[in-house]
Amino acid sequence: MTHAEDMARIAEDAKDWRRSIHEQPELLYELHKTAAFVEEKLKGFGVDEIATGIAKTGIVALIKGARGDGPVIGLRADMDALPMDEKTNLPYASKVPGMMHACGHDGHTATLLAAAQYLCQSRDFAGTVALIFQPAEEGGAGARTMIEEGLLERFGIDSVYAMHNKPGLPVGQFATRPGPLMAGGDRFMVTVSGRGGHASAPTMSIDPVVAAAHLIASAQTLVSRFSDPFDQVVVSITYLDAGSSGALNVIPDTAVFGGTIRTMNSDTRAEIEGHLRRMLNAGAEQFGCEAELDWRPGYPVTANDPAKAAVAVGAAAAVAGAENVDDDCDRMMGSEDFSYMLEARPGAIVWYGNGDSAELHNAAYNFNDEAILPGMRYWVELVQRELAA
Ligand SMILES: [Zn+2]
Ligand SMILES: [Zn+2]
Repeated sequence: MTHAEDMARIAEDAKDWRRSIHEQPELLYELHKTAAFVEEKLKGFGVDEIATGIAKTGIVALIKGARGDGPVIGLRADMDALPMDEKTNLPYASKVPGMMHACGHDGHTATLLAAAQYLCQSRDFAGTVALIFQPAEEGGAGARTMIEEGLLERFGIDSVYAMHNKPGLPVGQFATRPGPLMAGGDRFMVTVSGRGGHASAPTMSIDPVVAAAHLIASAQTLVSRFSDPFDQVVVSITYLDAGSSGALNVIPDTAVFGGTIRTMNSDTRAEIEGHLRRMLNAGAEQFGCEAELDWRPGYPVTANDPAKAAVAVGAAAAVAGAENVDDDCDRMMGSEDFSYMLEARPGAIVWYGNGDSAELHNAAYNFNDEAILPGMRYWVELVQRELAA
């Protein structure tokens, strides 16, 4: 069998693996069935080493090349699903109410497993492939937990790569860019404290509602006056709570609001908290109130190392043809916890086409099984380029 036939046969098998994972979605760190499935497959392929229970249900497996020593390349797939009901009517739709693989992590896992099986057979590289199967990408920062539990040092990982499927991008096509690709996403809550009283006598109280209204409007100037127009920033206030609808003649003691700030530049992300804090303090004082900021850091900016992005683009072009690789794609304001790995090691994440499917996180979404073959071919090509003798 040729290499190409071999890969195509594995990719066919991987469609079944994907559907099995799809039927049994699990959330966050509780990926017991999924992890057991992945572990069984990896053992069957004959990986050299396997470590389970990293970040509870994360798995790392090592495959050593036959062409001698070399660096350790980390290939990461996320495995978790989302807390939502599936509405696809597929024969292999979720059997678990309230859980669904709506971000295609079932496909990412199957794609990396397919590459793992091929790499275990071929071993045509110098160095080590570290397969990283990660829990809790959807809001649980599983990548950060794996790093905190020693992932990178324990396995001596030198570089890190990931793939995410992209609805709307034709199957077989790839897209990425050097530098920032996805946004950092932080959240915050603000408590504005005044002094409540009778609504007919505002001078007898300190009204936190009027102060909060001004602060919410001011926060929009973080975008228009405190960040570079070429540097994307989104400020959205998504929560507001004060007083009670049953007491419209009462000025409340406090008003609370909150929201999210998305940034595409790590320096901007680091600075914006300070801008917001200063604005809140000064703005609240103007009304005799106090504002307390509860800043809740989220995922960092996902920024590709330029040299590694070039390696990724080269591998994708070798697999798909240069005309099917966008090496300067649009950035996206969504977030991805692979960003923690990219902060710690040089690497790159690429989009791979999921064709004409529903959007990610939509109840009608489904990973496109035809994306497994180009995805696994990309992984194999990337390994051969990064671990060339
Ligand atoms: Zn997602
Ligand atoms: Zn995802």
